[in-house]
Amino acid sequence: MNYPKLIAPDNIRKEAEMAMSFYPELAHTEVEFKYNDMVRKNFMQAQPKWTSLLKSRKERAYIVLISKKFKVEDKYFTIDEVPNDVLIGWLGHELGHVMDYRSRSTISMLIFGLKYLYSPSHIKEVERTADDYAVKHGMGNYILKTKDFILNNTSLSDSYKDHMRKFYLSPEEITELINRYGTTGKKPTMKEMS
Ligand SMILES: [Zn+2]
Repeated sequence: MNYPKLIAPDNIRKEAEMAMSFYPELAHTEVEFKYNDMVRKNFMQAQPKWTSLLKSRKERAYIVLISKKFKVEDKYFTIDEVPNDVLIGWLGHELGHVMDYRSRSTISMLIFGLKYLYSPSHIKEVERTADDYAVKHGMGNYILKTKDFILNNTSLSDSYKDHMRKFYLSPEEITELINRYGTTGKKPTMKEMS
């Protein structure tokens, strides 16, 4: 399958297509994966393309910003150090955010953006929703690999890992979701496809 509306740098195109393949609902949605020079605390960040919020919800486009390297305290971490499956899981998590945004009205998106900045409990809920979408779409094993990579990677700092533990689902919680949805996930309904 090819994805005419998928935009991705060549060196992660394969992984991006793989992650997209779990989300047939997004086949006609513009999703751009883009490197961002700014080194940020989050390795990746999904958001709507702001100008597309003026269009109808169906025509909305999304962008996933990716740090080529990201800084955790004084250490730098680069995308080349991330194994393929972990990267696919990471991209799949971001597409989970896209699925969440897709279900929201423009006004709700704007309120959402503000809440994300200021409310820790909201962040937690949003991150849970993204993982829930990913596992529901059959990406459970990829998501587990990503969690494992983050939590058991010795070169990531304890404070980063604590941040991940505080705001993101634990491997045990992911396993619970896998038990609920199965490793292949649930097929989307016709309504969800439209
Ligand atoms: Zn997230």
